[in-house]
Amino acid sequence: MATSLTLLPLGVGDSRTTRHNYVQLVLNVDGRNIVIECPAYFRKALDSNNKSGERTLEASDLKEFIVTHIHADTVAGLEELSWYQAFGPVGRRKLYAPQWLLEDVWRILKPAMGPSTRFDPMINPWLGGIDGLVDLTSPEPPYWPYPAGPARFDWYFDPVEIYDDGQPKDLGGFTIACMLTRHIPRTVALKFDFGNFKFGFSSDTGFYPRLIEWLEECDLIVHDVLFGEPEPERNLHCPIVNLLTLPSSFQQRTLLVGYSDDAYEDDPDNPRYDVDEYRLLKQGKLYKLL
Ligand SMILES: [Zn+2]
Repeated sequence: MATSLTLLPLGVGDSRTTRHNYVQLVLNVDGRNIVIECPAYFRKALDSNNKSGERTLEASDLKEFIVTHIHADTVAGLEELSWYQAFGPVGRRKLYAPQWLLEDVWRILKPAMGPSTRFDPMINPWLGGIDGLVDLTSPEPPYWPYPAGPARFDWYFDPVEIYDDGQPKDLGGFTIACMLTRHIPRTVALKFDFGNFKFGFSSDTGFYPRLIEWLEECDLIVHDVLFGEPEPERNLHCPIVNLLTLPSSFQQRTLLVGYSDDAYEDDPDNPRYDVDEYRLLKQGKLYKLL
């Protein structure tokens, strides 16, 4: 059972946003930060949060990440994080995802992160980079072949498999379960059980009644939304017209995320679109759940 639980959205915007940050959520359970998604420019998102958000956060405070699929607006920050932790003082972050997604993450990181820029950190953790390996006065083109050999995924992250079939995984003090959503590529929704509070995150998804059913038991749900009529995306994100068919009891517990820049003029509490009893998730607002 959690004693305190908060939700801080670092970003709430869709993949085209210039107004908000990409969707990224930080749950804080009894002082432990769990970060959902790691989109591109995550350091900028932290910086903008620290200027206008209701709680400040430093990159060194973030040691546990969960990702839901391989789009840039959900995982491109992992390369930024790789460099930060490869040379920073905190070391490897935990990265939770289904096994196939962990493999996909390394597949996209490997061309950039696979050639090592230093000795094996298992042997010599923070000493000896390429400066000690190459002769800077040599006329030969440097760094090819890579002087320090290959790096491995687990130099950068401590990967932890979670399951995509609904089976809960105990992460110490709470559990997390996943379910495949209606999105391309393969994507998981998340359900956290803190004993006395359940939190659900739809991730990117088209309208999916089975997913709504799966999230139904949650005390708070953050759900994907699509406003307007961008036809090519109608089956990849969740049109508001479909969400409006759901009962009041679901709407009242659900905050909408991944919305377009035109979703509101000045105040997210006054959206331009009819959202009935839903509310827009607000970037930088600290939601106290317990
Ligand atoms: Zn996506």
